[in-house]
Formats: sequence, C-alpha cells, structure tokens
Amino acid sequence: MPTLTDQIALATGASRGIGKAIALALAGEGARVVACARDEARLAAVAAEAKELGLPGEVIPQVLDVTQRPAIDTVVEEVASRFERIDILVNNAGITRDGLLMNMEDDQFDDVLTTNLRSAFWLTRAVSRLMIRARKGRVINVSSISGLMGNAGQCNYAASKAGLVGFTKSVAKELAKRGITCNAVAPGFIETDMTNKLSDEIKSSFKNLVPMRRFGAPDEIGSVVAFLAGPASAYLTGQVLVVDGGLYM
Ligand code: NAP
Repeated sequence: MPTLTDQIALATGASRGIGKAIALALAGEGARVVACARDEARLAAVAAEAKELGLPGEVIPQVLDVTQRPAIDTVVEEVASRFERIDILVNNAGITRDGLLMNMEDDQFDDVLTTNLRSAFWLTRAVSRLMIRARKGRVINVSSISGLMGNAGQCNYAASKAGLVGFTKSVAKELAKRGITCNAVAPGFIETDMTNKLSDEIKSSFKNLVPMRRFGAPDEIGSVVAFLAGPASAYLTGQVLVVDGGLYM
C-alpha cells in the first residue's frame, strides 16, 4: 500500500539527479509532488516519466529559482491556494563552486550559501506557516557528508551543508510540539551531474574510500527521503541520516 496517498509535497532541485529521484519516490508512494527547479523542459520530462511509470501519485512541474525569495513566497502561496496545504517539504536544490580557501571569491562563497542554505530557510519559513496551521508536516533537508567531515576545496559547500544540520536541529526543536518533524539526509558520493564533473581518477580514488566500494544511486537517497516523509518515521526528528555506503562512521 502506498504510504503517502493524497499528501502534497514540494521538492526543490527536482529536475535531475537526487531531486528527481526524490520526486519519483514520493510520487511512487502516492504523493502529489510539486517539483521545483529552473529548467522547465527537464521538469516536464520528470512529470512525464512519473506518468509513464504509472506511479500512484503525480509530479507537477513548477519553475522556481530558489535564490529568489519573492519567487519562493509566490510559489508557496500558489501551491497553498491550489491544494490548501503542503504536507512535505524537501529542500534539495544545491550547487558546488569549489575552490581552495585562499582563492575563493566572495561571490563563490555567497552563491553556494544562498542556493544551499538561505533557500532552505526561506522555503521552510514560508511552508512552516501552513504546516503549523495544519498541526502536521515533514521537512527534509538534503545535507552532505561534506558538512559533517569537511572537504578540501569545498569550504563554501561544507559550510552550507553543516549550516543545514544546525538549521534542521533548531527547526526540529521549534516545531516538534506542533506535530512537525524536521530531519536531514547526508548523502555520500551519489552518481549525478554533480559527481560526473569529477575526473575518472578522482572518482576511483573516492570509491576506494567507500567501504561498499561504489557510489550510490539517486534512488537510494529517494527511498530514504520517502521513509522520512512517511508514517514509519513519525517519532524521528532532528536527525541526520547518513547515506554513504559506510564512508563516514
Ligand atoms: P545535480 O545533479 O547537480 O542537481 C542539482 C539540482 O538542483 C538540479 O535539479 C538543479 O535544477 C537544482 N538547482 C540548482 N540551483 C538551483 C536554483 N537556483 N533554483 C532551483 N533549483 C536549483 O545535483 P545532485 O547531485 O542531484 O544534488 C542534489 C542535492 O544533493 C544537492 O543539495 C547536493 O548538494 C546534495 N548532495 C549531492 C551529493 C552527490 O554526490 N551527488 C552528495 C551529497 C549531497 P536546475 O538546474 O534545473 O535549476
């Protein structure tokens, strides 16, 4: 039996990679998923794929640049007026702009912080108002093991992902009594456009560090997010689920 029938979800960064897998996993459990990203054509393709697969739920494409706060507020208002609620929010949109600390430009740092962290604050603030009214909700933030371990060349990215961990725990503490949980998923290396940028040599050296000796697949994050959105995780909040083939332990 699908676990998310009739639930309304909003997921960012859902045009490809992990976010696409999250949208399909939630729709696979019966949710109606407002799938947000900037690339309209790719979002339409995700919606079509959900239909072709015959999923019990639905993927509804929504163009949204998460670095634009007014656009976030407008989209949340539109979704609220169409569906009257948002049960599940997944803050997944993220970018990297790697560089060593001494060479890192201000805009390189700020762009990553805005896309990966400020957007989660803006979206969660807007959506939490609806969830508080409904006295229920699930917020799931996609962090990274970089935020837990640090990573040379990623002081901007690691700071944004560590920031999401503190944000997750604070929101969990604030909203627990309102029936809202807030958790994070911290993926290790997952096969997406983000990691395809790495050279084969670097990829194979990273694989050797992973006890499972392979990168993860996007749907291996999607299934964990669906668990955090579903009834089986009702008493779980403020946690960071590390999904990395055993790399960080
Ligand atoms: P990806 O393949 O590069 O996809 C990134 C997604 O974010 C795309 O859907 C992109 O859509 C969206 N996005 C980027 N900037 C956006 C913006 N300003 N507004 C709206 N959407 C935006 O990356 P991924 O590997 O799937 O990563 C997804 C999340 O997992 C990220 O938060 C990433 O940090 C995290 N993560 C990934 C890995 C990994 O190994 N892949 C590991 C740990 C954590 P558009 O371009 O269409 O806007």
